Amino acid sequence: MARYDSLVIGGGPAGLSAALYLARFGLTVAIVEKLAHGGLMLLTDDIENYPGFPKGIKGYELSDALSAHLEPYPIDRIRGEITALHAETSPKRVRVDDEWIEADSIVVASGVVYRNLGVPGEEKFIGKGISYCALCDGNFFRGQPVAVVGGGNTALEESLYLARLVSDVHLVHRRDSFRGAPVYQERVKKTENIHVEYDSVITALHGETGLEGVTVRNVKTGEEHYLAVNGLFVFIGFLPAGGYLPPELNRDANGFIVTDCEMRTNIPGVFAAGDIRSKACRQVATAVGDGVTAANSAYLYLGH
Ligand code: NAP
Repeated sequence: MARYDSLVIGGGPAGLSAALYLARFGLTVAIVEKLAHGGLMLLTDDIENYPGFPKGIKGYELSDALSAHLEPYPIDRIRGEITALHAETSPKRVRVDDEWIEADSIVVASGVVYRNLGVPGEEKFIGKGISYCALCDGNFFRGQPVAVVGGGNTALEESLYLARLVSDVHLVHRRDSFRGAPVYQERVKKTENIHVEYDSVITALHGETGLEGVTVRNVKTGEEHYLAVNGLFVFIGFLPAGGYLPPELNRDANGFIVTDCEMRTNIPGVFAAGDIRSKACRQVATAVGDGVTAANSAYLYLGH
């Protein structure tokens, strides 16, 4: 059974940064990546707020650059999915697909998964009109009308991206103001083919083999109307991707991992970094900082 000083779970900006620093501390390190490196960055067209890139950088370019930074170091990169984590043992044990790996410390950086809308029929239309990724699926709706749900940075940013491809974006938000950054709110306001429907929710999905329309209800007046759209993009936040985490690990009410400011969890030797951590500011830059801090804490914990 392979054994490492530290095992990093997740290949997004937090995990890649943690692995880089752990390797530079001279520790033996493996990083487990479920799909391609980059995490949610890969699903983002332009990243405009990562410091040092005044003209912005494509999500895939920053993913590749962070990943390439690991190449000179002896880091084992394992492709697979974590199916179990035993954190109270010494060493700790992690099952990747069907194989067990041992590690003296663990950095959990497996990020988040999309939150579903919860409207009846949602499952049926996934891949047939409903999407959670504008960069992946926007092209399918070129020249057609789509709806977007949400009021955070993701909904605003992705609406702006979609507006360049589709005929009309109907942005449906449940309140009368957005929580996304003012810089995106301004751009949404100025984009002619984005039509905002405040105080509104989607209550029904319509279509035979693919999505043809949605029912929108105004939550203040109770009025409903039909919106003919071929696509519905759901951007209403995320849930932690931590189905494998042990019950003894402290989490907040939404399931995000609770840490102190040094990324230490309640279990000695287990650290958490990035979007899966309970925190207010989820950015590529803060994920990188979390990863570095977690690596430093793991190094101190291991007493090297
Ligand atoms: P978010 O900030 O949690 O916003 C989720 C939005 O969806 C909110 O507007 C919320 O409405 C709405 N919502 C939640 N549940 C809903 C439901 N059941 N039905 C209808 N609407 C619902 O999520 P996010 O926009 O995906 O962003 C996640 C994190 O990543 C945030 O920290 C964000 O700042 C960060 N992020 C940053 C950038 C960037 O800096 N460029 C880009 C993307 C994401 P309410 O407002 O009423 O709660």
